Amino acid sequence: MPAQDTIYALATGIGRSAIAIIRISGDRAHLVVERLTRSILPEPRCLVRRQLVSRTGDEIDDAMVVLFSEGKSVTGEQMAEIHCHGGRAVISAVMNEIGAVEHLRLAEPGEFTRRSFLNGNMDLSAVEGLSDLISAETELQRKQAMRISNGALASRVSGWRDLLIKARGLVELTIDWADEEVPEDVTDEVRDILGHLAGDLQAELRHSESTEKLRSGFEVAIVGPPNVGKSSLLNALAGREAAITSDTPGTTRDVLELPYDLDGLPVRFLDTAGLRETVDAVEEEGVRRALTRADAADLRIHLRCETDRGAGQFSALKQDHDLTVWSKADICEGPADIHISVKTGQGIEDLLREISHRLSEGAESFGLLGHHRQQQHVQCALRALQKGREGLGTADLEVIAEDLRAATSELERLVGRVDVEDVLGSVFSSFCLGK
Ligand code: GDP
Repeated sequence: MPAQDTIYALATGIGRSAIAIIRISGDRAHLVVERLTRSILPEPRCLVRRQLVSRTGDEIDDAMVVLFSEGKSVTGEQMAEIHCHGGRAVISAVMNEIGAVEHLRLAEPGEFTRRSFLNGNMDLSAVEGLSDLISAETELQRKQAMRISNGALASRVSGWRDLLIKARGLVELTIDWADEEVPEDVTDEVRDILGHLAGDLQAELRHSESTEKLRSGFEVAIVGPPNVGKSSLLNALAGREAAITSDTPGTTRDVLELPYDLDGLPVRFLDTAGLRETVDAVEEEGVRRALTRADAADLRIHLRCETDRGAGQFSALKQDHDLTVWSKADICEGPADIHISVKTGQGIEDLLREISHRLSEGAESFGLLGHHRQQQHVQCALRALQKGREGLGTADLEVIAEDLRAATSELERLVGRVDVEDVLGSVFSSFCLGK
């Protein structure tokens, strides 16, 4: 009996394509290829052409296959890939043949990566980076995800952990020498190490909000009274009729979203319902939602024009770095940061540049903590090490050593070295099949 099931899955997208790749991982991976090709197995890591044949001897496809040996594959297990033609019937016939082999089953989402993690080929932060890489939609998201999946966070954490272990070693040395003559007082050295470390962790945490935004996307709400040109601006950005525009106030009754790649920054523009006092229950609900979303957005564009009668309820939403924009500048101008016209295109590029500038303010370089889970572990590690540092010179050394041990295990949790079971489900649930 194999130690665990051999798993297989279609690794490429569902639907018709030129080529489809099916991955197999586990003790029976090579056996599957042997049965499907009815020929000698190729050398590992050599992509070779083979005819795929069914159990009844029918030719299924002219394909390419590649094998990976145990210990030399991404999952750490014996693996194989079948590159067949991407028609639905071909894929389905190949998958049926694979599924017919005993102890083979379809992989669950993320199961290949999970096996890779469990076999020590990846740490948990790299798994999260990989998941982000697959979801990346903009260039900046891709670069950031690559950085993390290549181990940037893991190596930073490992540096922090080494320093903590060094500090704890010094404290423990002092404990061991307690009854003897202590060779030298290590308090200052430990205080320095922990101070330096606390500074590093704080700096990372300061960047974490923008780092998480880079992953999940920034929200920019277009707000202002009805008829000021909000939907027209959204349409101009979309280059299509994404929102309904009309001369009758109150047309946009809900919050419309436009995903946008702003020089690599993932942005969602929100077109909020035109705000005005209303007795219409549906519109009132639209106004309530608009206010909540706009308030929580990362930036608000306050649109004004000559016909509006003041910013009304939206003035309460004004936050320090928000933008005031004068719309319909082709017919009239007024006081604002930027003047735009969707009719002539005036100011739209300036507006986008300014939005990009304001969103990336304070985030000159994005940090490494893009996930709430990672931030929490760093916060807990920071609290524990600060407690230890404050106790130096007054508290029992055993207590300080314990604080430093607690800080170390928080960092180990971050990369999945300890206590991983409870987080695995949520980390891997975001993966697609075949990964
Ligand atoms: P909203 O209620 O704020 O979403 O406003 P709309 O986008 O529906 O625009 C209201 C009216 O203003 C429509 O008739 C638009 O064609 C017009 N409008 C919007 N932007 C401009 C502009 O830049 N110039 C001119 N001349 N008219 C505009």
